[in-house]
Amino acid sequence: MAKISIDIQSGKVVKDSGIIIGIDLGTTNSLVAYMKDGLAVAVKDTDGKSTLVPSIVFFNEKNDVLVGDLAKDKLISHPGRTIYSVKRLMGKSYHDIQNQEDYFGYKIIDEDTESLVKIKVDQSYFTPIELSAEILKALKIRVEKDLDAKVSKAVITVPAYFNDTQRQATRDAGKLAGLDVLRIVNEPTAASLAYGIGLNKDEKQTIAVYDLGGGTFDISLLQIEDGIFEVLSTNGDTFLGGDDIDQAIFNYWIQINGLDMNVVQANKSLSQEIRLKAEKAKKVISKEGLFKETINNINCQISKETFHKIIKNIVQKTIVACQQALKDADLSAADIDKVVMVGGSTRIPYVKEKISDFFGKKVNDDLNPDEVVALGAAIQADVLAGNLKDVLLLDVTPLSLGIETVGGLMDVIIPRNSKVPSSAGRNYTTSVDGQKNLKIAVYQGERDLVDHNRKLGEFILKGIPPMPAGLPKIEIQFILNADGILKVKAKELRSNVETAIEIKSQYGLSEEEMGKMLMDSITNAESDMKIRSLLEAKNEANNIVLAASKFLKQNDEILSTEEKEKTLQLTEALKASISGEDKDLINQKMDALNEYTAPLAHRALDHNIASSIKGKKI
Ligand code: ADP
Ligand code: MG
Repeated sequence: MAKISIDIQSGKVVKDSGIIIGIDLGTTNSLVAYMKDGLAVAVKDTDGKSTLVPSIVFFNEKNDVLVGDLAKDKLISHPGRTIYSVKRLMGKSYHDIQNQEDYFGYKIIDEDTESLVKIKVDQSYFTPIELSAEILKALKIRVEKDLDAKVSKAVITVPAYFNDTQRQATRDAGKLAGLDVLRIVNEPTAASLAYGIGLNKDEKQTIAVYDLGGGTFDISLLQIEDGIFEVLSTNGDTFLGGDDIDQAIFNYWIQINGLDMNVVQANKSLSQEIRLKAEKAKKVISKEGLFKETINNINCQISKETFHKIIKNIVQKTIVACQQALKDADLSAADIDKVVMVGGSTRIPYVKEKISDFFGKKVNDDLNPDEVVALGAAIQADVLAGNLKDVLLLDVTPLSLGIETVGGLMDVIIPRNSKVPSSAGRNYTTSVDGQKNLKIAVYQGERDLVDHNRKLGEFILKGIPPMPAGLPKIEIQFILNADGILKVKAKELRSNVETAIEIKSQYGLSEEEMGKMLMDSITNAESDMKIRSLLEAKNEANNIVLAASKFLKQNDEILSTEEKEKTLQLTEALKASISGEDKDLINQKMDALNEYTAPLAHRALDHNIASSIKGKKI
């Protein structure tokens, strides 16, 4: 179903292949793949050497761009003009990456800490979206050369933990590169698809996807049944990967040569050179047993035994994350049917061995670990093209989504680890008589108080017809689409007044922050609970104070002076307790007021019924 169009610049007729391509936009390497004769293939460069495009962008003095291997060559000679790991900056503010600045060899700037970062090269500024778009353009050109036709549609993968801003940024980068991004897919989902897992409808299995890349580690547990992929849990470490292994070897060499780390690091070219040497050592050491080279009299030597000692800690950290993922999914290692290895760093035999030991089974490593995500993206693209009708994909949201309710409490609407796409709704009401507007503030996080969670956005439902407090019925609905982007709708059901927003948060949440938020929610559970119950008591008490004063007003004639005075006195005592922090005291005062007014309320009710019957005309 090739389309014909005309290239306006050249006036030539060009063929659009109609193919939807799959792209793995990685931190370290990116790849493009598509379905060729029913098989997913990753596209090599015209020289036929490699399917990997290093995710590196270089700008010369005239701002001409180089991407991939050509840019990687500039890391040593032009560290300030060579941008790597831009994926880490997608959807991030300067504030998010403040402590990581040393990690980047180029200049990251920001005018104010809340807005998204830019990268400064000479007098030019580039956003991470523009830089990612350069990588995507290079991939697009690569596949178009291979097909000798244009492509315009793509599926792009992202880590499962990417938040809204990061997914949007990825989508925008695609758009900027001239690609219509049909779907953003989670990397582990793509990897399992590459192994054909789930394509056979009758299989039911539980899969662990272990992804150790250049700078990140992710473990995802998937359940596949009836052609449906469901992510059970995800875990990982966003600063753990092959780069850390390189750094560990780097540190080891600095140490055995008796060098000063600060001095070496001040020389950016030299430190990049040592880093590249360390990467080389890492790749050959398992086969050769000993690596021995020099850089300017620096002895770059390491044995296999030392290498294993150095990376033991790193591998152990990944195993702890695996244990946590299993725990979150309520599974044990024995429940896992298959383990899929993803990411260049899983080529290390020691890693395979330890992970195989942990899960107690042989791991799946038949496919190139650095290609599987792109291959799976191509398969997903094929699903979208309508060629694989039986497959449906469900992913997962990593943090709970909810709104702020009275007293600053977080009310979760879509819980963490829910499948996407998903939607959920809940009804709320007003707390003040005649309230016309209602502010809806949307938060992401696991803590009981919104102050401890992250605000994604807010909006106001306007034009609620005046009604007594508690009467309006406001339905708030969260709709999380397949890309993990959230839409929030609010509707007052009695009047049909309605409003909606799509959440595009101002700046991204760093993954450490996300991990920290999860940890905080566990460590602070007890104190959160105390605060929550205090706030709940205060809310309830406030309602009772309001109800009591209404009651006094409405039943002025029925009540004796003494009853009115006593009620007022108890109400004042309750009010006083609300301004304190003693939950038990509030409850006690509430009980006292309730107890005293209950018989009065009964009497008032009887009286009101009697008078209404009396007054009725037939
Ligand atoms: P990402 O998903 O972060 O883009 P990749 O999956 O492409 O990363 O993995 C890149 C990492 O894999 C780099 O740190 C690279 O050094 C490492 N790597 C590639 N091949 C090997 C190998 N044979 N042995 C050890 N590490 C390797
Ligand atoms: Mg990867």
